[in-house]
Amino acid sequence: MTHDASSYPHNFHRRHIGLGPDDIAKMLAEVGYSSLDELMDAAVPSRIRTTGLDLPAPASEADAAAELAALAGRNRVAVPMIGLGYYPTHTPAVIRRNILEDPGWYTAYTPYQPEISQGRLEALINFQTMVGDLTGLPTANASLLDEGTAVAEAVMVMKRASRSKASRVLIDADTHPQTLDVLITRAAEIGVEVEVVDLDEPLPTGEFFGLIASYPGSSGEIRDLEPVIQEVHNRGAQAAVATDLLALTLLKPPGEFGADLTVGSTQRFGVPLFYGGPHAAFLSVRSGLERHLPGRLVGVSVDDEGRPAYRLALQTREQHIRRDKATSNICTAQVLLAVVASMYAVYHGSDGLREIARRVHAHARSIHGTLRAQGFTVSTTAFFDTIVVEVPEGADEVLRKAAESGLRLRRVDSDHVGISCSETTTDEHVSLAVAAFEVPETDRVRDRRSVIPPKLARTTDFLTHPVFQEHRSETAMLRYMRQLRDRDFALDRGMIPLGSCTMKLNATAEMEPVSLPGFADLHPFAPIEDARGYLDLIHQLETWLANVTGYAKVSLQPNAGSQGELAGLLAIRGYLRSRGEVARDVCLIPASAHGTNAASAVMAGMRVVVVASDEDGTVDMDDLEEKCEQHSNQLAAIMVTYPSTHGVYESQISTLCETVHHHGGQVYIDGANLNALLGVAKPGEFGGDVSHLNLHKTFCIPHGGGGPGVGPVAVAAHLAPFVPSHPLHPDPSRRSGPGPVSAAPFGSAGILPIPWAYIRMMGAEGLTLATKAAVLAANYVARRLSTHFPVLYAGQDGLVAHECILDVRPLTAATGVSVDDIAKRLIDYGFHAPTMGFPVPGTLMVEPTESEDLAELDRFVDAMVRIRDEIDRVADGTWSLDASPLRRAPHTATSVVGEWNRAYSRETAAFPAGVARDKYWPPVGRIEQAFGDRNLVCSCPPPEAFESQGVDA
Ligand SMILES: *Cc1c(COP(=O)(O)O)cnc(C)c1O
Repeated sequence: MTHDASSYPHNFHRRHIGLGPDDIAKMLAEVGYSSLDELMDAAVPSRIRTTGLDLPAPASEADAAAELAALAGRNRVAVPMIGLGYYPTHTPAVIRRNILEDPGWYTAYTPYQPEISQGRLEALINFQTMVGDLTGLPTANASLLDEGTAVAEAVMVMKRASRSKASRVLIDADTHPQTLDVLITRAAEIGVEVEVVDLDEPLPTGEFFGLIASYPGSSGEIRDLEPVIQEVHNRGAQAAVATDLLALTLLKPPGEFGADLTVGSTQRFGVPLFYGGPHAAFLSVRSGLERHLPGRLVGVSVDDEGRPAYRLALQTREQHIRRDKATSNICTAQVLLAVVASMYAVYHGSDGLREIARRVHAHARSIHGTLRAQGFTVSTTAFFDTIVVEVPEGADEVLRKAAESGLRLRRVDSDHVGISCSETTTDEHVSLAVAAFEVPETDRVRDRRSVIPPKLARTTDFLTHPVFQEHRSETAMLRYMRQLRDRDFALDRGMIPLGSCTMKLNATAEMEPVSLPGFADLHPFAPIEDARGYLDLIHQLETWLANVTGYAKVSLQPNAGSQGELAGLLAIRGYLRSRGEVARDVCLIPASAHGTNAASAVMAGMRVVVVASDEDGTVDMDDLEEKCEQHSNQLAAIMVTYPSTHGVYESQISTLCETVHHHGGQVYIDGANLNALLGVAKPGEFGGDVSHLNLHKTFCIPHGGGGPGVGPVAVAAHLAPFVPSHPLHPDPSRRSGPGPVSAAPFGSAGILPIPWAYIRMMGAEGLTLATKAAVLAANYVARRLSTHFPVLYAGQDGLVAHECILDVRPLTAATGVSVDDIAKRLIDYGFHAPTMGFPVPGTLMVEPTESEDLAELDRFVDAMVRIRDEIDRVADGTWSLDASPLRRAPHTATSVVGEWNRAYSRETAAFPAGVARDKYWPPVGRIEQAFGDRNLVCSCPPPEAFESQGVDA
């Protein structure tokens, strides 16, 4: 059945956009325009306006759901025994429904405001504890993007930490091929030479700064790495071990035989295959390397009532502060998936995990024993879950037979077949796998002995913290997850007006298809004929995104904005190199740019040259001209965000692009702010050569509490040959080229149904209306607040784009009230703070998005107006700053009971906008940042730490 898309209630854009026609009229009146078009004409420079979008007519929710179900149905979910770092797993239903599918978890933001993020911070510290325990190294971060990029990050940590001046890194030949290729792509640009070594042979002579060994190897083989790691250390280098957490429940952990770092994927801890992602990778380090860790690290500190409280540690490592000195460009990581993996460990505990591992190992042994008894040569001798069988010239035949019975095995080469067992492997799968080698069922051997060498067997305990023991019943598990979720403030409670982050609410209709087995359970290296539905969806989405951005080609491979940036810059480098312009390595970056820009440029092997901003926040065109002249022969690119990070449509963007092109440079337009452009202007039309988009901002992938994301790279025709390739791409023509930037050919494929559904249901008109509504909302908030907090920058006609910067600096100078105080006080009013201190220190950047309704916008504005009144009472001496509700915010429930001797009432503390029935109570008071960095604790604190404070942990 097809619904008339223009008729309410089937018209999806009326549900996505929070503002109805009456709201829009009221807001336009406040801003001073008579129509949305008049507003846009005034705000957006006419030179960059586009003619429109070419997209299919919008579908209703019901029709889009049916289309997605049909696409999922075109994927054939077989029994993947392919391995290569991806294994089928049972996601416990209680976790799937109450985390993966629960907006309380998936609509949260990165936990920068720790007082309202204690739930996911606890889940992440459980993740860190789990990884630390299993790998035997004390400090793990709170997730990386995938195993391939995690290995590349580990190599950079080794390089920085090593005293050696060498530029060579050694990598085990028995490493997953995609990991090797991601590393080679990344290493080439930063002057690191990668040498593949056979660890069964002596290490090569000459200097190197690090070794990456695989344990188990990609072939399944488990080697005793202790001697080689000793030699690596003797030669002054560091050793990283790529490993598997399930195997480590039975194997001696790398931390016990000298590894300096470990990396790997936590996918098989309950996270669906998702055709390659999203999955959380991990990185753990020995003591002494904590401060080199890329990504985010959760630590323990205390709040103002002395309670232990979690928050992100060592925040100085963030790109925003370090910029081109940053240790990594990672911003969005994989928080939601890390939470799932940690809950899988909470659900199973060490006993449960060990039992799963033993079963997996037994199945692998059974296949191994049976085939050996039949005279097959099995190349793998010591293994956990994977074996490689020799079948001279017979691999294709075995794969074909296996496929007939619904199994997918790994074709190592024409003479070798790999078989990997997993949590979901059954006796029947074992029989079918063996049968593919023409072995009769009756000949199956049950080999009872473990083939793990005794020296490599695990003897130490893990997951001994009570959190991994106390939630074994369904009831306890459900309540634990509910308890954590309720500590957090996410979009399901209220507005999160974070500038640059585009926290719009994600429709459930967009989310539901992600769980369809046809999308969730496909292995990334399944044969092409199993993935027809995915390939169609990907092709359509790439085409739509190319159309809305005005570019020729889109690659969905990068799995975060930062990775899209890197892919785009690598495309520029590849293009320049193809023209012999190898000397062009300067990347111009405006002072106001997002921190990932500078970090990515460095990772792409470029030199960062900063372009100044004018007083009005725009790029200083004289300085631009000067820098272009100065570096004319070395100019590779400029990276600009449009609209600028100041939330303004700069009218000079076309001139800027022309200037850079004139000097032979390429224009990279950071597309994170596309929410102000869709349907109105296209970066590919107004001068961009390449952009990345953030599908987790403009295109409705929820933020997940800090990931997942998708950061596709979009390029003009001349850069099309230089978008990422992948050694295992289903299309043979895309297997060679510049190399991959993520471990799977389509990155986080599993969440692509979300942006697909968004575009499919919005259509050209809906997307354009969303942009206009977002711009109206930002201008409405700016106008209503401007008499209370000056709006820092504006463009044509005094208008902002889709976000606005409130200048708090004069008030701070006069009263001492900081942006931090305002942010914490907003919690008492039931809001997440706007972006603090970016792109201008001492300011707040507000991005309301189109999905909020007028009542919520007004509630926010009213809260800010009241906060301004409170600041005035500090100014007039009614309250001293230290005794004010601003400085003492946020107020917990426990803080307003018992004795009360503050200068303001309990009502003012907890109900500043009036007593309300629905009140968000932060679980902790203001958290002390410095204490936690001085006393770095990054794993679960003992329960007594909470008891002594009389709070229930
Ligand atoms: C969010 C953002 C990025 C980084 O994207 P991630 O997905 O977090 O890596 C880059 N540039 C701008 C302007 C952004 O707002």
